This record gives sequence, C-alpha cells and structure tokens, in this order.
Amino acid sequence: MKKYFCKSCEDSLKDFNVTLNGLTDSQVKEQLKKYGENILTEKKKKSIYSVFLDQFKDLLVVILIAAAIISMATGNIESTLVILVVIIMNAILGTVQYVKAEQSLNSLKALSSPTAKVIRNSTKIEVPSKDVVPGDILLLEAGDLIVADGRILENFSLKVNESSLTGESESVDKHTETINKDEVALGDQKNMVFSSSLVTYGRATILVTNTGMNSELGKIATLMEETQEKKTPLQVSLDDFSKKLAIGVIIICAVVLGLNIYRGNTILDSLMFAVALAVAAIPEALSSIVTIVLAIGTQKMSKEHAIIKKLRAVEGLGCVSVICSDKTGTLTQNKMTVKSIFVDENLILSDNIDLTSSLTKFLINSSVLCNDSTSIDGNELGDPTEVALINLAHNHDIDEISYRNTYPRLSEIPFDSDRKLMSTLHSIDNDYVMITKGAIDVLLERTSKIETSNGIRTFTDEDKKKINEVNHQLSSNGLRVLAFGYKKLNAKKDLSLDDEKDFTFMGLISMIDPPREESKDAVRDCIKASIKPVMITGDHKITASAIAKEIGILRDGDIAVEGLELDKMSDSQLLEKLESISVYARVSPEHKIRIVKAWQSKNKIVAMTGDGVNDAPALKQANIGIAMGITGTEVSKDAASMILTDDNFATIVKSISNGRNIYSNIKNSIRFLLSGNTSGILAVLYSSLMALPIPFAAVHLLFINLLTDSLPAIAIGMEKSTKDVLRDKPRDVNESILTKSFIKSILLEGLLIAIFTMVSFHIGLYDGPVGTASTMAFATLCLARLFHGFNCRGKKSIFSLGVFNNKFSWIAFITGLVLLNAVLFIPNLQNLFEVTPLSSSNVIYIYLFAFAPTLIIQIYKIIRDISDKKNNHSSTSTDRNLSSNKHVA
Ligand code: ATP
Repeated sequence: MKKYFCKSCEDSLKDFNVTLNGLTDSQVKEQLKKYGENILTEKKKKSIYSVFLDQFKDLLVVILIAAAIISMATGNIESTLVILVVIIMNAILGTVQYVKAEQSLNSLKALSSPTAKVIRNSTKIEVPSKDVVPGDILLLEAGDLIVADGRILENFSLKVNESSLTGESESVDKHTETINKDEVALGDQKNMVFSSSLVTYGRATILVTNTGMNSELGKIATLMEETQEKKTPLQVSLDDFSKKLAIGVIIICAVVLGLNIYRGNTILDSLMFAVALAVAAIPEALSSIVTIVLAIGTQKMSKEHAIIKKLRAVEGLGCVSVICSDKTGTLTQNKMTVKSIFVDENLILSDNIDLTSSLTKFLINSSVLCNDSTSIDGNELGDPTEVALINLAHNHDIDEISYRNTYPRLSEIPFDSDRKLMSTLHSIDNDYVMITKGAIDVLLERTSKIETSNGIRTFTDEDKKKINEVNHQLSSNGLRVLAFGYKKLNAKKDLSLDDEKDFTFMGLISMIDPPREESKDAVRDCIKASIKPVMITGDHKITASAIAKEIGILRDGDIAVEGLELDKMSDSQLLEKLESISVYARVSPEHKIRIVKAWQSKNKIVAMTGDGVNDAPALKQANIGIAMGITGTEVSKDAASMILTDDNFATIVKSISNGRNIYSNIKNSIRFLLSGNTSGILAVLYSSLMALPIPFAAVHLLFINLLTDSLPAIAIGMEKSTKDVLRDKPRDVNESILTKSFIKSILLEGLLIAIFTMVSFHIGLYDGPVGTASTMAFATLCLARLFHGFNCRGKKSIFSLGVFNNKFSWIAFITGLVLLNAVLFIPNLQNLFEVTPLSSSNVIYIYLFAFAPTLIIQIYKIIRDISDKKNNHSSTSTDRNLSSNKHVA
C-alpha cells in the first residue's frame, strides 16, 4: 500500500490522475468498480435458519413441546399435531418479526448515515459517505465526521480528534507538508486524516487515498462487530416478567397436578390439566407485540421528521419534562434578512443603503470577504447569517465569487460558537487587512478605534454607550446584530487568536430571523403537558428574550440569564433559580452540560437539541439528545439519540406526544394480553378446584393466545395519538409498567371474563356432554377476548375514543371472528381443534356471555367519562372564577 504522508500533494494528485477540480463522473464510476463502496464489511449476519432455531430456545416453547408430548401420550395425536403446527408457526412469526425489525432498523440507520462534501466535475456536492472513492477531493470543516483516509492538500487551521484510532483524546493540529520518513506512527502522520476521526476546528481540502476496508479503520476492525440494538428498558423488564411468570406457572402447575392426582384422577388427565394451565398463563405474543409496536411507531415517527437512532429513546420521550432548545433554526425559521446597518454613527434601513458612502461600501464588501457562504441562482449554500449578508451584497450588484477572487483570503480564523468571532486576512490596496465579524459584546470589548467620515479616532466610552443603545433598540425587536471591525497588519501572516484585538470599529448589520409559525402552538402544547421549554442560544440576551416572549417561552415571572452570569452562579444558586430560568443567552456549548446536569439532579428527564461540534458532550449527557438533520454537524448527529429532519421545535413536541402514545399503546396491548391470560388461568384454576372437567384443551388456548389475541393486540398498538396524551404529566421514568392499579384492572377484567366463561361452561355441562361444555367455554373465552380488544384501546369508553377511529381493531375483530367460526363450524377443523357441533341456542349463549364483560366494562367507562367531564368542567369554571376574582382584586 502506498504511503501518501511521504508524497507531495502534487505527486499524490498525479497518482489518482485528478486535480483540485475533482474527479469526473466516469472516473468515479471506474474507481467505484475498482475499490467498491466506502463501507466496512460487517460481521456475517445471523442466518435466517439460526434465527428460526433460536425461537425454540424459549422456556415457554419448551413447556409447549412438553404439552405436545403429553398429548401424544394420551393418544391425542390431532392435538399433538396442532400444538406442533402452532409452535412452528410461532417460530416462523418470530423469525419474520426479527427480520422485519432488523430491516426497519437498517432503514433508519441508512436515513441517519453520514454524508460527505466532495468536489466532482468542478462543483461542490454532497454525497452519501458510501459513494466516496479514492481520488475524490473531500472538503472538511468543523463538525464533520471524516469518512475516508486522505492526504491534506489545503489546510486552514485544521484540528482533528483521532481518539477512535489512536486513543488520544486531545485534538491534533494538521499540516500539508510532506514528511520525509519511511515509517511514521499513525498519530504522527500530521498531513493525513483518517476515517472515523472528527474535525473539531478549521477546514481543509483532502485527497481521498483509501476507503472502506482499505482504510486504517478497516484494517483494525477487520470485521466490524455487528451493531445489535440493545433492548429497551421496557423490553428488559418484560423479559424479566416473562421469566418470573414462567417459574410461577411451573410452580402452580405442579400444585394443580398434585391436587388432581391426590383427588384420584389419572396421571395423564392430571397432566393435561397442568398443561392447559401452563398454556393459558403464558403470554406467547407479548414480546413480539412490544417489538412490533415499537418498530411501527419509529417508522411512523421517521415519516413525521423524527429519526429515532436508539429505540430506547421512544420510551424516554414519554418521560421528558424539560426541553432545552436552540433558538436559531429550531424555534426560528433560520431565514435571515438584513434589516438595517449602523455605520458612521447612523442607523440606515436596508432599503436606504447607499454605496456612494465609502464607509458603507467598506462594511458591505467586508461582509462578503469575511464570509464562507454563497448564493448562486437562488441556491444558498452556508450559514444563513452569512447568506443574509451575501443577499444584501447582491442587492447592490456585488458578486461574491468575483469579489473574493479579487481579494483572496490569505489566512483565517474560522467562526466558532465559543469565541463568537470570525476573522479573515486579505491584501487590499497594498495593505494586509484583517476583517473580523461577530457578536457585538465580544467585538466591542476588543475595539480600540472607530472609523467615521471624519477619519479614524480613539474608541471612547461615549461611542460604546451609543452603539450599545442602538444594539438595545434593534435587539428588543428580536433582531440579530453582528458587529464588524478591522485591523491593518504589517505583513502577511498566519492569523492566530492573539490577533483578534485592537480592532477599528466599522459598523453593525442587523437581521431578522422570524420565529417559526408552529413554535407558538408547540410551546403552548408543552406547557399544557407539564413540560418546561427552555431556550438556550448563543445569541444576545435582549434578542433572545424578545423572541422567547413572542413565542411564549419567557412568561411572567420567568428570567433570562447570560453565560457570564451563569459562570458566576454556584451550583446551589443555579438549582434555586433553575425552574424560573427560561432563556440562557450568550452561552457556549460547555454551559449546556451544566444546565442539563442541573435539571437531571432534580430528577427531570431532559431533551436537549444541538448542532455544533462542541454540542456532542451535552447531547450525550441529555436523556434524549436531539441533533438537527439539516444544519447539524455529523458529530452532533453521531452523539444524538434522535435526529430532526426538519430542525423544527414543533417536531420535538410531536415526537414526545408520539412517544407517550406509543408507550400507552404498548401498555394497553399488555393489559389486553395479560387480562385475557388471567381469564384463562382463573377458569382452569376454578375448574380444577371445583373438581370439574378440564374446560379447555391445550389447542384451544393456543388458538386464542397465538391467533385471535395477537391481532387485537397489534391493533391496539396502532391506536392513533390524540391531543389527550399531552394533557397528562410526563411519566415517572422509574415507574414500573406493572403498577398496582394496572395489575388490579388486569385482574378484575380477567375475573369478569372468567366468570362469564365459566357460566357458559356450566350451561354446557348442564345441557350435554363435556365436549359441548368445553367447546362453549372455549368459544366464549375466545370471543370475549376479541370483544375485550375494544375495551383496551384506551382509558375512555369506545364512544369517546370514536367507535371507528381505529380501523385495525375492526379488522382484527372480524378476522378473529371468522377464524373462530371456521374452527367451530368447518367439520375438518372441528376434529383438529377438539370442538363439538353446537346447537343454535348454545351459540346464542356464547355470544351473550362473551359480550357481557365488554358491556359491563363499557358502562363503567361511560359513567367515569361523564364524571371526569363534570370534574373538568367544574375545575375550569373554578379557574375562571379565580381569574375573574383576580381581575376584581
Ligand atoms: P443557537 O440559537 O442555535 O445557539 P446562534 O446562531 O444564536 O444559534 P451561535 O451560532 O453560537 O448561536 O452564534 C452566537 C453569536 O455569534 C451570534 O449571536 C452572532 O452574534 C455570532 N455569529 C453567528 N454566526 C456568525 C458567523 N458566521 N460569523 C461571525 N459571527 C457569528
């Protein structure tokens, strides 16, 4: 393999037959054929065959296999066959579900996979990282994740964190010079960059030398470990519950078995009882349903602009009680337009700008030079703050490309949100001029002179006061104000941070960035949902407060705090004020971590947005780190657990509502499955204790648990979100899903269904042979559980939820009904499922007794809905009375 660190830039370029204008399309095609895609080969995926076999490792399946063997021993071959078919079907279902879940995870991964900026055919374009080929000219800037190895061709203060390869956590400075050695350790190859490193500062142009498995990363990770998604807390606690349940079932079965043998039943009959009980108790579909509902939920969220990177974030979203959001672009539109400029002690509206004034001309020209953006034929590329400046220049017929060609950039210190300044060096009229733009407070602190039409003079306190007054006036209207300064240098040099002082003040440019229309409603929804919205911004306190007030974040009694004030606060002082601080202005990314930690120490679950390279630690610290899909750096996306593809605050609130809804749907599905199982267990236990015959054959219970129960459970999981989910308080993260009241309702509903099932069984026993009674019990239980699916759609009655609002629940019900009737009335299936033909009166009993529990539950819900409405009504009228009393007072 060639060593590019000891080759000059020119030789390296020659090797790939490429110039700084990049490869042509046909060259890219050729390279792609030769080197393949820029991906690391993942460890071989589990084969479908082994996934299928894994399904039989479950303790619950082992119990079913035992049931099949016992059925065979009792001469019940049909039953054995059905159980085996059911086990195999269950395994097929499990396999399909595994593959589907993996596919959906992969498609989410693909949505959030990194991109790279390259020059091809002389044009800068963005391509998926997998399409980068050796020979590509790659452009890097702060915040980028480097996707391939490469030789540095142009370097502008590039600093790179290579800790993923070298373990060294400090960022390293890079250069372009050739290293005249044969062997150089990776960490010392300062003219090279490597795949998986992060750009922490500066920018550079790179010639890609190695991609995919040929990169240094590919060499270390010869086979990438398959990145398997960890189970979510809910899945873990349900797995734990299933294990405990299995053990409990085995113990109860043993007791029932002993009891039956003691009563003098044959061992085989007693065994069948125990098997029926085990099958009734085991919620076979539980874990698949949770995974399916989570997968469907995340797919839906990705269509609504929120890509979930970690499944556990879906559950976490429902617990969020604080959202710390950036202002620019998330709460506002990030569409900046210049409104006015302040130059030569005059505030001039943008429409009245006149370039005949040399000072105005110098300010506008400087805003083009100290600027990385372009706007060509309406195609805006770059930071909106800078694009606004370019658009202003266009209004005065200044073309940024040709102007920059006339005064090329000799050196630069890029903008970063800690320093809040950007500087560039140019040769203008035989002078070396450093132009700096940035936050007004930072720049004024470093200003010593001011230029007016009367010439350059010392910058006085009076000047500072006047400029601050202008700033106050502009910021109070929500305008962002940028300050401009310059300084002449004696000679051409590489700019360093030390140079950013002793400026001559040039002027101010103010721009508007209107709030997003949806922000106001989203903030209102947050407050209704007991979620505190907090604005964290690098912008000026007055600008931030004006916007925060407009969208409802800064309310009466709330305060705005600046980064500097925050530095002066002790932790206890911060904690004391925390609840009332709604705006943090002029903060740097480090402050964000302190704010998250403070809220977390109050046991709050915090969602935090971030886009910059320095935001990564805060995104990792937050419970839900949210990166921006459009403006976010790759580094922030890498650290986040969720990505907003529209950068919109309202999407966060919608995701929280979706998160809450998914959790409550899962809870309702679990309630449905467990209450159904409880009814089966109670019925079998009752028969065993009362020395009645076995009410159900194992196949009956398997039919219900696996077929007719699964469909309503999934349908419940698809219940749509209503505005109601945002009325409740956030869920306590430590609250177990199986709360006392939840278990109580499961037991009560299970008992109700069991009672009517047993009434049906008794009528069958009274009327005829055991077979008829057992068929009646089975059909009643199955149908009652199908009806029960409607009860579990939500807390409220079906009329409040909307009878036809969830079409899936009707599809599930009707499919279940058809399946049950097929088993009851098709002769071949009757034998297979151990059912006997029923008289029409029996069928009527079945429908009546199956519907009865749902009728009772719905009547109870209707009464509760009415009283809830009354309570709400009286509480809102009390509120109204209270507020009108306030007015009187
Ligand atoms: P957010 O609200 O998302 O934190 P922000 O744009 O207000 O975003 P920063 O990007 O950190 O925060 O900007 C902080 C300050 O730096 C701005 O208020 C502005 O004064 C200044 N600034 C912003 N962009 C530039 C730039 N490209 N060059 C120079 N100064 C800038």
